[in-house]
Amino acid sequence: MSVPVPDDSATPKSADLQLPEGMRYHCIQCGRSCGEFWEIEVEPEKVDEIRARDKAALAGATDPADPIVDSPWTPGKPVMRLDACGHCVLQNGQGLCSLHAAFGLESKPNSCRTFPYKFVTTPRGVFTGLSFACTAVLANEGPQVTDERAEVEEMLGWTDSKRDVPEPAGLAVDLPLSWEQYQQIEQDLSDLLDPALGPLPRRLVAQSAYLALLTKFLRHARSELQQLTAGAEANVEPLTVFRRKLRGTPEQPWPLPFSIADKRRSSMLLRRMFLGFAHALRNTYGQRRGRLRSYFMVIGTYFYYAAGRGRITLPRVKHTLAWRELSQIGFDPTRPEFDALLTRYFRHRLFRKDLLTSDYLHLGHHLMLMHWGLIHWYSALYAAEAGSPIVEMEHLREGLRNVEKFFVFHSTFDRLFVQYPMLRGFLDRMFQHPLYAFSMAHGEWETAGR
Ligand code: SF4
Repeated sequence: MSVPVPDDSATPKSADLQLPEGMRYHCIQCGRSCGEFWEIEVEPEKVDEIRARDKAALAGATDPADPIVDSPWTPGKPVMRLDACGHCVLQNGQGLCSLHAAFGLESKPNSCRTFPYKFVTTPRGVFTGLSFACTAVLANEGPQVTDERAEVEEMLGWTDSKRDVPEPAGLAVDLPLSWEQYQQIEQDLSDLLDPALGPLPRRLVAQSAYLALLTKFLRHARSELQQLTAGAEANVEPLTVFRRKLRGTPEQPWPLPFSIADKRRSSMLLRRMFLGFAHALRNTYGQRRGRLRSYFMVIGTYFYYAAGRGRITLPRVKHTLAWRELSQIGFDPTRPEFDALLTRYFRHRLFRKDLLTSDYLHLGHHLMLMHWGLIHWYSALYAAEAGSPIVEMEHLREGLRNVEKFFVFHSTFDRLFVQYPMLRGFLDRMFQHPLYAFSMAHGEWETAGR
């Protein structure tokens, strides 16, 4: 079979700015965006300028004496110094930026001026991503981003928060994709998130089933055609057939992925062990131990969680949550306002090309399922901290914000998670487990009170 792959050069140029539908943003000056990140980067050209600023003019800042330091994670990379509470030392008593107040917007580091935006440049256009660590983005407050084209285009001219993705990641390591094919798959994954198709956990498992089925189908088709080592051109016909068959009918959409999702065979032990492991890794990473010590700490914590004795802890949260308490905290992801936030979040993650930050798409989706599990755990911890027996909207937003900051949009944490050889082997075994997707999607809240 020889079918030409659509010519990407005929598609829109990278200058075509793509703005997300259904996303609103307007800075509400909440002061929450200047801290509690792993690090706040400063471009090298700005370092001397900020250091030389008149300290008397920055008098409102927490501690303006030495505002820029070396990153503890990347030696030589300048970052804003954070105080003991994790806030930038140039924040003033009102939670606002003292640099901005004294010297104007242009005086701030490029990353601060760009927040909450980040861009991904592809041959199919420049995709505009927004951070759910931002209070206004979480609450969907402000004008529609699609109405702010001129402002966003202007920002694109000077921002450093841009990532080039000239080639899409493959579906799996042995299954390369063209941009056309990647976008078709992204469209299907977005369609599978339609709230009309049931609760979010069901939709997330159906997405995972779709990717697993597609991987099998393409491998089989390529093998039959003796094109196992061919490029993306070998996928064109099989992908068309697969998409037509899988979509189903308007009366019964996506029957196969949802029949798999409805089998619902999750393992709370697998969930506890895997999320406990990811959580331990995050805390160890945050403490900046040596590699060997980190390994031992993470492995120790992993067994602790496996035995059901781990406690969920977060910096600056007094309460610690035992697994038994976690399973007693009510959570209802089908609440309309929860579902609206979570659907918007997971749809936007597809739009801003989060799946392409992993080695291959299915790995990106496995990690997305892990993030969903952690959103629940952290939301429950925030509920417990507030003395609430159930997760309310403010707890869900804090849980999501925390995961977005430390695992997703502002973190290279997932790279660490997949790069270390021992961790990578462990990770691959977990992802191949037949109950992995179910166990990440369905959580302790389903057994609460039993
Ligand atoms: S430099 Fe200003 S805007 Fe940037 S993190 Fe510090 S206080 Fe916030």
